[in-house]
Amino acid sequence: MVFILDPNVEQEKIDAFIHGWEQKGFSTILSVGTEHTAVCLIGNTATVDLDHVVQTSGIVSYGKRITEQYKAVNRSVREDSSIIRVGGVSIGEGTFTVISGPCSVESSEQILEIAKTVKKSGAKILRGGAFKPRTSPYSFQGKGAEGLEMLRMAKKETGLPIVSEIMNQTQIDLFADVDIVQIGARNMQNFDLLKAVGGLKKPILLKRGLASSIEELLMSAEYIVAAGNDQVILCERGIRTFETMTRNTLDLSAVALLKQKSHLPVIADPSHASGIRSLVAPLAKAIMAVGADGLMVETHNNPAQALCDGAQSLDLEQFRSLMEELKERATIERKEI
Ligand code: PEP
Ligand code: MN
Repeated sequence: MVFILDPNVEQEKIDAFIHGWEQKGFSTILSVGTEHTAVCLIGNTATVDLDHVVQTSGIVSYGKRITEQYKAVNRSVREDSSIIRVGGVSIGEGTFTVISGPCSVESSEQILEIAKTVKKSGAKILRGGAFKPRTSPYSFQGKGAEGLEMLRMAKKETGLPIVSEIMNQTQIDLFADVDIVQIGARNMQNFDLLKAVGGLKKPILLKRGLASSIEELLMSAEYIVAAGNDQVILCERGIRTFETMTRNTLDLSAVALLKQKSHLPVIADPSHASGIRSLVAPLAKAIMAVGADGLMVETHNNPAQALCDGAQSLDLEQFRSLMEELKERATIERKEI
């Protein structure tokens, strides 16, 4: 159940309202949007007389029942889209934010060359894996803490905010200088990790699990928000289907549906979705056309020698050329890129 509050209600009244519900055994989530403030009630709301609350509370303009299991991330709670700001970059409605960089940070020279070049082409955020979730224990596992240090250096040199994947809670302190913490597909339902990053005061990029439904993705986002962090970016990165000619199947309808069902920003990753370099640009254009708020695309200065995901990585010239195409399309979509 969600209560939309009257405009300009004093904070003490909101606190008292929330306290009243918590005394009765409910949990609450306060959602402060640009249009309105809402209090979301979680618990057994079947016994709550909605009309009575609206008439007697003195601060509620209207209320509604939310039938979906996801509450705080539900668009019913916040009709205006959430915009996440990180180091001068916005992610959300009205912008198409491109995140780019290698699957894995390999050396200072590699990450720096990629960072400088993708920045020149128009990327706004630098990605780079330091801890890599690999199917085989014999594959390159990433540079770990050293990789994060190289990424930090590239951030310092270029001014680009950085995003990197966390694998478990014990790594949280290592991510102090990482601007956006990525939860990868394999960890989307690692609930302890979701709760832990819910305690952080920085954006979380939550990737959809390989075989997770749209609702499960929203429920995982709900874990993070319920734990206190409402800065969540959803990422569609392809799902497993019967198809074997692509690495995964990009679920474009998920992008459009997530935008309708949730107020959170939604981006997509054509690199992991396809696994094939030549498909990255066409899928990137489709991702923009379907209404995503951005893109995460893997790039490498020498894809043939990449230690991870080279076959799906664009080289720096291919990325430049994709960005030119996306910039033209952004005008039609009325999005800043
Ligand atoms: C990645 O972004 O490099 C990655 C491992 O992605 P995913 O979790 O979507 O497989
Ligand atoms: Mn990768």
